[in-house]
This record gives sequence, C-alpha cells and structure tokens, in this order.
Amino acid sequence: MKLKYRTTSPVKTKKMGEGLAKILLKMPKRKKAIVLALEGDLGGGKTTFLQGLAQGLGVREKILSPTFIILRRFKIPGQKSKNFYHIDCYRIKGPKDILDLNFREIIADPRNVVAIEWADKIKNIVPQNSAWIKFRFISKNIRKITISASRY
Ligand code: ADP
Ligand code: MG
Repeated sequence: MKLKYRTTSPVKTKKMGEGLAKILLKMPKRKKAIVLALEGDLGGGKTTFLQGLAQGLGVREKILSPTFIILRRFKIPGQKSKNFYHIDCYRIKGPKDILDLNFREIIADPRNVVAIEWADKIKNIVPQNSAWIKFRFISKNIRKITISASRY
C-alpha cells in the first residue's frame, strides 16, 4: 500500500503526523512495537511530522531535532507504560550504534511506538513490517510525503 501526500506548510505536516497518531492509538493489540521508518531530504519535514505525531500521541514535551542525542524516550500519558521513542540516525556510523542502545528490546515491546529518522542508514535492522515514510523537499513550503506500509 502506498499513500502520497503533498503538504503546503509545516502546520499541515504536523497535522498529518497528528492524524497518524490517532490511527496508531486505535490499532489492535500487537506482538511488537509500532515502527515508523522515516527517510528523505534534509529539511524534508521528518522532525516536523514527528512533532505532530508526538502531540497526537499525547506527549507533552516538545520534540526537537536531536542534534547530538541519537535516542529519546517520551512517556505517553494515560496509556499504561506506553513509550514514544524518537531515534535520529543522521550522525551515526552504522546499525551498531543503534543496536548498542537496546534497539532490539525497544522494537520487541508492543507498548512502544518507535519513530526513526534517517532509517535508511540502518535498513537491515529495521523490522520488515515497519511503515516507511518518505519526505521530499519540493520548494520552500511544499513537501511530498509518501507512506508505504507493508504487512500491517
Ligand atoms: P528533517 O527532520 O526532515 O530534516 P525538519 O522537520 O527538521 O526536517 O525541517 C523542515 C523545515 O522545513 C522546517 O524548518 C519547517 O518549518 C520547514 N517547512 C516548510 N514547509 C514545510 C512543510 N510543508 N512541511 C514540513 N516542513 C516544512
Ligand atoms: Mg530531523
């Protein structure tokens, strides 16, 4: 399944993320974490999208571009022990840097929602059933966003 969107402002990209969060919260019980693999242009809107997603999940802290921090964990309030993980692979050398942060355990826990920016850098350790979301910079305020979900 492939869904293509074109957004015309950061606010609209955030709204898209927020909309996806609502869908994720309604999803039936799973065996593993929900993993969103984000890829595409620098400035394409990945972090902006995740700000909306986090807000939609109910996370109160603001999601920032984690310049030096590779992984951040946010509690999803109201949902017993649910966590939102924001991972940014921009600066990493390879999958080992992510595996060292207990990645396997994080993606194995069905209570987690895990969003990975620059996921193409760790393609071989991203679970098969992840949703891939691609961001393309078209012009100053226009972004093309493509969501491909496999076996959800
Ligand atoms: P990435 O994480 O992919 O590098 P960011 O979300 O950090 O991208 O940056 C996107 C930048 O582009 C932000 O400064 C944002 O305000 C701007 N922007 C302009 N138009 C859009 C749009 N339609 N969607 C998302 N961001 C946009
Ligand atoms: Mg970013």
